[in-house]
Amino acid sequence: MTTDIPLPAHSWPVLEPGWVWLCGAGPGDPGLLTLHAVNALRQADVVIYDALVQEHILTWAPQAEHIYAGKRGGKPSAKQRDISLRLVDLARAGKRVLRLKGGDPFVFGRGGEEAQTLVQHGIPIRIIPGISAGIGGLAYAGIPVTHRDVNQSVTFVTGHDQSGNTPSSLDWVSISKGSQVIVIYMGMKHIAQIAGQLMDAGRSPHEPVAVVTTATTEDQQVLETTLGTIVDDIAKAELAPPAIICVGQSVLMRQVLDWQSMAAGQAPRNLDPLGRGRPAESA
Ligand code: SAH
Repeated sequence: MTTDIPLPAHSWPVLEPGWVWLCGAGPGDPGLLTLHAVNALRQADVVIYDALVQEHILTWAPQAEHIYAGKRGGKPSAKQRDISLRLVDLARAGKRVLRLKGGDPFVFGRGGEEAQTLVQHGIPIRIIPGISAGIGGLAYAGIPVTHRDVNQSVTFVTGHDQSGNTPSSLDWVSISKGSQVIVIYMGMKHIAQIAGQLMDAGRSPHEPVAVVTTATTEDQQVLETTLGTIVDDIAKAELAPPAIICVGQSVLMRQVLDWQSMAAGQAPRNLDPLGRGRPAESA
């Protein structure tokens, strides 16, 4: 795609000087950007982007200054408040500011805090949602985040809180009982603790789990494991963040829906992984 290709006819919003648009870039594959994101990239004077944003996407804003504001667990990184205040300064300087964040800006991305700071400083904002890794990343692994035969609810949790520990506010017993499928963001560091808490709360050690790293990119890796074996298997496979961890029977659906392997010529492993013995849509 080049910048010569016009966007489809639509009354696209104009990024005015002094405004900040907080925009989701999706989980990685640039094809998962929204048209609003592309419209924003073409107008920005400054793009402030996170570690999880694929840098290739920045080539779609060649006219803009690109500023890295990465925050990755454990590594020295820009302080959240400094990033927010930088956005304020740039907007006050009359720039058209695009704040680009991985996935969706309002899903475990501190977009809410940034937006709040901007509003508190009188800066006009627009929010552009994106495809969150916990949904789109799993889809690229062939795992439907809901499926009528599996789950009527799904819980998205973060594996660590502001202090860097497993969030103490999470009630693992309720989550275990109440949600057939649990999708964990930022779970790699504390996976031993999280898996232990889920099993203590009654989830089976045999429960299927998938770990999807750098989902939707060319480096995507998918590990299929169980709650009981996940810690060893992650170590053996030498998997590194960013990773989405999905706990629940929906992981089995990958046996029939791993569309990337099928596109590469492999046959589906099992057409009826839940053993329903009936066509998928007969219910
Ligand atoms: N706002 C983002 C989430 C930010 S929190 C979103 O909506 O997706 C950062 C965490 O998101 C990572 O630790 C990881 O758990 C997850 N994540 C983001 N991009 C990912 C990717 N491409 N593959 C796997 N996990 C990803």
